[in-house]
Amino acid sequence: MKSHLSLQKVSSAYRQQQVLQDIDLDIFGDEILCVLGPSGSGKSTVLKSIAGLQPISSGRIELNGTVLNDVGVHQPPQQRGIGLIFQDYALFPHLRVVDNIAFSGQANASEVAKLIELLGLQGLEQRFPHEISGGQQQRVAIARAMAYQPAFLLMDEPFSNIDQQTRWPLIRELHDIFRAQKIGVVFVTHSIDEAFYLADRVAILDQGRVLQCSVPESLYRQPNNLAVAEFLDLGLCFEILSRQADTLQTVLGEMKVVETIPDDHSHVFITSEQLTVAESVDGFKIIQKQRLAHGISYHVSNHQHSMRLTLAVDQDFAVGTVLNVQIKPHKPWSLSA
Ligand code: ADP
Ligand code: MG
Repeated sequence: MKSHLSLQKVSSAYRQQQVLQDIDLDIFGDEILCVLGPSGSGKSTVLKSIAGLQPISSGRIELNGTVLNDVGVHQPPQQRGIGLIFQDYALFPHLRVVDNIAFSGQANASEVAKLIELLGLQGLEQRFPHEISGGQQQRVAIARAMAYQPAFLLMDEPFSNIDQQTRWPLIRELHDIFRAQKIGVVFVTHSIDEAFYLADRVAILDQGRVLQCSVPESLYRQPNNLAVAEFLDLGLCFEILSRQADTLQTVLGEMKVVETIPDDHSHVFITSEQLTVAESVDGFKIIQKQRLAHGISYHVSNHQHSMRLTLAVDQDFAVGTVLNVQIKPHKPWSLSA
């Protein structure tokens, strides 16, 4: 049976300050779940709560039906069967790689050798942490956590101290390892790219609340509120200025819709593939332009409205150009503020 970690209405506070509010999350042992959110949103506190390093003020945490936290119950961290990996690796500096991995005493010599091979650490067994690179140190930290045979691995911004060139091959490799070993992983990042690459499901955290938790494609196509759409910066949200039966008015003009949009939905969400953009004499003028890894971001404005448009790299326009922006006919996705 696959492992199941369940957070039910978990709240947490530092002194008087509420940091997590009614967090509901279900995580299964064969998936990688990412908690994605800006700095200060409470990501580390979620992991510390699951690991038992941070008391919760209300709610319940269960692992495979066993209560880890509830009113009057707080299982100590070492009895939870959960491994925690920090961004700074936290290896024992005076222990060689092999002894760091074997530290728990729960893996025998052949299991430690298997972990060394699995994480690609052969040849480094006798080195001390300061004699290997950051990426290698993170591999050792993961091997050490896996030696405890935890039901889940929790990783707090595990790649943030690793340079770009090392990071992506490492993420790809870890993805395959976690898949093959069927280890449940909860990892935390503020990087949208890392979240969308590594995770089966992504929970968007903002000010201590989960705004949406779904597979990456749904977040991308169907953000359920304005904060998610804006945080992910994947498309454009246009306010619905007025509506009739099958027509919406937005700053881009009229939009025909094939389905009625709920009354409480105030915006339509459009991805850049759903727009046609062409140079024109009338429309939105480019005020600023910024190159991104995946496209070009423009700040555009007409007499009444300004917005940010992210277009593909081949849609390269100069600052000052006026663009006519039209929505291609499609079934729009609407959302609430
Ligand atoms: P994240 O990991 O998303 O950056 P954290 O979970 O570390 O966020 O922090 C969430 C909030 O809790 C922040 O406002 C932070 O200032 C506060 N916080 C974190 N740790 C402590 C602490 N030990 N004492 C008091 N406040 C804290
Ligand atoms: Mg943090």
